[in-house]
Amino acid sequence: MAYRVRFVDPARNYRMIKDEIDRAYFEVMSRGDLIDREHLRKFEKNLADFVGTKYAVGLNSGYDALHMSLRAAGIGQGDEVIVPAHTFVATASAVVNVGAKPVLVDVGKDFNIDCDRIEEAISDKTRAIIPVHLNGYMADMVRIMDLAEKYDLVVIEDACQSLGASMKDDRAESVRKKAGSWGLTGCWSFYPFKMLGGYGDGGAITTNDPEVAIFARRMRFNGEDRETGEYHGHGFTCLLDNLQAAFLDVKLRYLPGWIKRRQEIAERYRNGLQDIDDLLLPHYNDPRRDHVYQNYVVRSRQGDEFSNYLKANGVEVLVQFRKPYYKHEALKLEDRGFPETEALSREVCSLPMNVEITDDEVDYVVSVIRQFYGK
Ligand SMILES: *Cc1c(COP(=O)(O)O)cnc(C)c1O
Repeated sequence: MAYRVRFVDPARNYRMIKDEIDRAYFEVMSRGDLIDREHLRKFEKNLADFVGTKYAVGLNSGYDALHMSLRAAGIGQGDEVIVPAHTFVATASAVVNVGAKPVLVDVGKDFNIDCDRIEEAISDKTRAIIPVHLNGYMADMVRIMDLAEKYDLVVIEDACQSLGASMKDDRAESVRKKAGSWGLTGCWSFYPFKMLGGYGDGGAITTNDPEVAIFARRMRFNGEDRETGEYHGHGFTCLLDNLQAAFLDVKLRYLPGWIKRRQEIAERYRNGLQDIDDLLLPHYNDPRRDHVYQNYVVRSRQGDEFSNYLKANGVEVLVQFRKPYYKHEALKLEDRGFPETEALSREVCSLPMNVEITDDEVDYVVSVIRQFYGK
């Protein structure tokens, strides 16, 4: 079916920056620089600067970033790790795949882990917590860092959806700190439809810990120290391609402007929809935190009726997480009852949100929604 407004439009995005992307391609290809070369290092430096950490290490995916972080922290058999009940499944799978047990915690109205419910999930086996900054809005890192200190937990930020988001750290003279710079690591995904998307899989960790950076640099390359040739452990093959790094470096320069554009689109949705009582919009009143709108997720009481109406009227929406990941039997996860996650799973609908979209297209989405509600 041909949608009148696409959820994302990668070809249109490419045309916006075609000259620079093509130049990066020809430069990398004509030099033959494919693996662990200058473009990767340059991108890593620029990413670390953007996030505000000392190091960034390019990996093959966001999953690998979570996996490497857990390994760097020495988490494995017998350990428990706190994760939100509402997130992309990879957050929990990375924990299971290092042999540890994810302990799920319900989320709040902002889709992020409910800090009031974290303490009851902590046991004497709890070693780490993975807050997820979902949709472009940070979890309350001030409270999470306090809890982590109190219970001596490692913090690994799943920041895959929140590159550029920030929060004021009122513990440290109200300094504004970006997502991915608070915990032991920040984990990033460059999957094509993320804030900063490549043309295939990609990921990274950011960290201020030199040991963690060295660990990840070796482990992404089968455990090998590339200078000495020494193997420092049984590693993996999960290096970010030099070609992808060159593309991502081009896009990273656009990111600050693209974030502003996303915020503009969010305001346009807000102005068009805020009088509809049955629709919950993702605008939160916390002056300490900003929203970079990786996704614009609304909650409609009408659930599938709402999303199907949009699709039938030419608006491509994304309905994710109708069945919470912990309800998939093969994953063998403990469902301790997560009422907010269950309620929002029936109601969530992601509206088109990307930097390719025009104001007219946003207005069309608004008009279809208003029509649905008889406005
Ligand atoms: C995308 C995403 C991941 C995984 O990233 P991949 O690059 O697809 O492995 C993990 N967590 C969250 C919250 C994500 O959105």
